Amino acid sequence: MAQQFEDKFHRKFYYLRLSVTDVCNFKCTYCLPDGYHPSGQKNSSFLSVPEIKRVVRAFADCGTSKVRITGGEPSLRKDFPDIIHTVASTQGIQKVATTTNGYRMDKQVGLWRDAGLTHINVSVDSLDPRMFYQITGENKFQQVMKGIDRAFEVGFEQVKVNVVLMKGLNHTELPSFIHWIKERPIQLRFIELMQTGEMDQLFNERHVSGTAIRNQLMADGWLLRPKAKNDGPAQVFFHPDYKGEIGLIMPYEKDFCQSCNRLRVSAKGKLHLCLFGDQGIELRDLLQDDIQETQLIHRIQTELQSKSVSHFLHEGNTGITPHLASIGG
Ligand code: SAM
Ligand code: SF4
Repeated sequence: MAQQFEDKFHRKFYYLRLSVTDVCNFKCTYCLPDGYHPSGQKNSSFLSVPEIKRVVRAFADCGTSKVRITGGEPSLRKDFPDIIHTVASTQGIQKVATTTNGYRMDKQVGLWRDAGLTHINVSVDSLDPRMFYQITGENKFQQVMKGIDRAFEVGFEQVKVNVVLMKGLNHTELPSFIHWIKERPIQLRFIELMQTGEMDQLFNERHVSGTAIRNQLMADGWLLRPKAKNDGPAQVFFHPDYKGEIGLIMPYEKDFCQSCNRLRVSAKGKLHLCLFGDQGIELRDLLQDDIQETQLIHRIQTELQSKSVSHFLHEGNTGITPHLASIGG
């Protein structure tokens, strides 16, 4: 193995979030409220499968063991099963995850599993179909639910469900969500709404901290599970009476960045050291031939030394990320 990716704060990077498209067919109020619009950049094609193969191999050769394929909506790519297979067949990659809005899960999740997908996250912001529509702009609640059932049928032992907490909308649904996972091996992941560059009023109106949920869980006998080295940012709680688990993602907590183990590559091949606040570092010119791997690794190692200690979100910094669909949430 080449040298493990590590920054100057001694954080080691085991986890790559790879965006494969910016395109999405949903209009989530907190992400793409007006739907997807192409950015208008020249040379705007998304990473090809050979480019994906090269970037994942470089990361794996420097200690990355988990890749999350995200977007936009990754399943909108016709070659999505090929992408999964390419990532899964890279030596050193043990976990291949995706985050999806669930739109194609019902029909395709079996194909994804056959291609090598090991973990799946699906976004479900409400268990009430009308609220689901209000938040996502799509009347697809039943279809997404069918997709979750199908994921279990094709052999996934656990499905993770992402819920973005929004004051006055879904945050009073906690009891129904918890009831839902009593007999289902679902890991619910409550994500605090993050402020992005294109968000005006929404953050002020809807952001709610996960602290009250954490206090409630602990009072109700939920216990915090220790983290593995390639785990994501969630604090995960379990309870002996529940098959499901609950994760809290609270990026506004002051020390959130201390345990950062993730790097991101955008759908157009830019390395992002943080979800917030960087322009991205061009990698695409070094993804054109296998023989460029040493140069590619060198560029990533060098740039990694400028990774900031924190995103400073808790100090009101929103960085320049317009919305999470642009570099993969
Ligand atoms: N389209 C897929 C989906 O929605 O699951 C994958 C991409 S989406 C950008 C990844 C995750 O980021 C989703 O769970 C979404 O709910 C979350 N997300 C998007 N914008 C967010 C924001 N402003 N704050 C918190 N989470 C956000
Ligand atoms: Fe699309 Fe996901 Fe953004 Fe919703 S959160 S608009 S599904 S990319």
